[in-house]
Amino acid sequence: MCSALCLIMALQNKRFVFVVLFILLFVNFIAWAAVYDLSRPKFLEVIFFDVGQGDGALIKTAEGHYILVDGGESSKMLEKLLAEIPFWKREIDLVILSHPHYDHFGGLIDIIERYQVKNILWNGVAEDSLAFERWQESVSKSDANIIISLAGQKIKGENFFIDILYPFINLEGIEFKDANLSSIYLRLVFQKTSFLFTGDGYKSNENELVQKEIFCQENNHYLCRVMFLDSDVLKVGHHGSKTSTSEEFVSAVLPEIAVISAGKNNRYGHPHKETLDLLERYDINILRTDLNGDIKIISDGKSLIFSTD
Ligand SMILES: [Zn+2]
Repeated sequence: MCSALCLIMALQNKRFVFVVLFILLFVNFIAWAAVYDLSRPKFLEVIFFDVGQGDGALIKTAEGHYILVDGGESSKMLEKLLAEIPFWKREIDLVILSHPHYDHFGGLIDIIERYQVKNILWNGVAEDSLAFERWQESVSKSDANIIISLAGQKIKGENFFIDILYPFINLEGIEFKDANLSSIYLRLVFQKTSFLFTGDGYKSNENELVQKEIFCQENNHYLCRVMFLDSDVLKVGHHGSKTSTSEEFVSAVLPEIAVISAGKNNRYGHPHKETLDLLERYDINILRTDLNGDIKIISDGKSLIFSTD
């Protein structure tokens, strides 16, 4: 009888030792992870994924936030995120949809269902398609905080901020003949470096922004606090189509790098020669997902380096 009792006590002791060892190891792991995090240099990364014909970018902030701007139309974006976001992190802080066209939101539907998305920012524009109904359904099923875009909004982190530059009015529920015109323009700023995202906006949208900036130089309108177009990186509008990227806009933004997100041999002929010629004339580095694959741009707050596949 004693031997049976001793055996039970020995087993219980062993289990206790294992539990204590596990807790100590876990605490040790957390402590080292915190030390590693504190000593890690602070960089901001923007990856423009090759999602075929469409747009899809991931912003990794220096504080460890994950922000998406569009998601392409297929599962490519989700596959790339699985490789970029650690497997234990199931959260995305913010998903931004520039406008409700399939080549921008299609890939976001599965991402919203798979990840815990904290915030979704989009323009609320109505579209009449089955795919768009799926987008709306996944947004309404998610627990995310929904924000309808409006120029003047500011999203602030510890080391970065995002200014919403366009649209100038709330477009919720409005149906557009061409939703490209409703595209959100936003400027991401990390210390001294900046990125301008343009969705599929046209030259007419760009002209409104340029005019607003000129107006702001002379007036003190509330939008003028955020109305700066000058940026180091320009995500070129509408996949490099000649319908976007006017000379006035390029000379207002004056980027060092222009990123064009377009599918290899796409049926629209994007990017168009007119756009490429203009960017070359301004001596801007052109990076293209159709030629370069995924494009990663890293900022240390002062300067940028980029790498491609
Ligand atoms: Zn598009």
